[in-house]
Amino acid sequence: MIREARCHCGKMTLRCSGEPSKVSLCHCFDCQRRTGSLFSVAAFYPRASVELRTGQAAAFRRPSASGQDVTFHFCPECGSNLWWEADRLPDLVGVAAGSFADPDFPRPEQAVWTEEKHHWLPLPADLPSHARNPVRPIPPE
Ligand SMILES: [Zn+2]
Ligand SMILES: [Zn+2]
Repeated sequence: MIREARCHCGKMTLRCSGEPSKVSLCHCFDCQRRTGSLFSVAAFYPRASVELRTGQAAAFRRPSASGQDVTFHFCPECGSNLWWEADRLPDLVGVAAGSFADPDFPRPEQAVWTEEKHHWLPLPADLPSHARNPVRPIPPE
């Protein structure tokens, strides 16, 4: 299946082929500040399945809780953050699930950083959730 992610102004479009390898919901404060919403939903695709079709991206790089950097790519025109790349996950690209504007998009398989979740926000009872991010940092060589 081919899906197209698009920024708010429409200049930047990303073509994603096949199904995402993983869909994850994150409540961390960084995602809250980045999105302006109370959580972020990331659709992780293999790098080879994602292609920027139109537009040019600006980038913002910051350290993450894993100890490795994450680079966020956003539209310089409208500011939408369309995708990101974690140094910790070199084969995967995280795409903002909301940018598909598709209510039938596959649901998240986990919620992370629920210790920073707003208290009034319920999660589906069958959704595995983690207080932080269960992924182990890669030890320094
Ligand atoms: Zn835009
Ligand atoms: Zn987060």
